[in-house]
Amino acid sequence: MPPKTRSTDRTHGSLSGENGDSDGAPQADTADGVTESSVDQPRIVRAVREILAAVGEDPDREGLRETPARVARMYAELFSGLHDDPRRHLQKFFSEKYDEIVLVRDISFNSMCEHHLLPFLGVAHIGYLPGGKVIGLSKLARVVEGVSRRPQVQERMTETIADLLTEELEAKGVAVVVEATHTCMTIRGIRRPGSLCVTSAMRGVFRSHLSSRSEVMTLIYGDRR
Ligand SMILES: [Zn+2]
Repeated sequence: MPPKTRSTDRTHGSLSGENGDSDGAPQADTADGVTESSVDQPRIVRAVREILAAVGEDPDREGLRETPARVARMYAELFSGLHDDPRRHLQKFFSEKYDEIVLVRDISFNSMCEHHLLPFLGVAHIGYLPGGKVIGLSKLARVVEGVSRRPQVQERMTETIADLLTEELEAKGVAVVVEATHTCMTIRGIRRPGSLCVTSAMRGVFRSHLSSRSEVMTLIYGDRR
């Protein structure tokens, strides 16, 4: 593992609004608790009490008394990515001559569907063809984690990861494939447990060259399908 670095450049804080210049130790390379304090938890507590009352529950009965605060802490964690710029994980790279595909498969994640505020979860596969910059493999998982902790749709999540990597790594090609199960499809509405949603975003040579795209897709799926 390379030594940790802290971004000091243009990008950090661009997504973080009021938290923009608190670039200190609490934002070190920990996935959890990054900037959860930026979430207005008392407001969530009030809102959850309202929801409980609205569905006909008594928010003050013993079993529910701590629930609003618990939900508030959970949302602060699940949405911490709103106050974090995943680009910070991509500032430390190695200059390498390596010019073959780098692929990390099965990076697990969970995120929240912005239409129902229900989780969708699965795995991301990321491949890139370096353009001189090679990054620590764990950083790719950090980027997935950072991007996933926001309310969103899977399509945008896939594109966001691909664009971030394309911009920061100046890679010749980036391929991102995300496979996820959406609980808003499995526990409500159409109720189709087991259905898998697959999205992909191809950049650079993986978009323009069929042979490169085939190569990366074979690396992702080759021995499984
Ligand atoms: Zn949904």
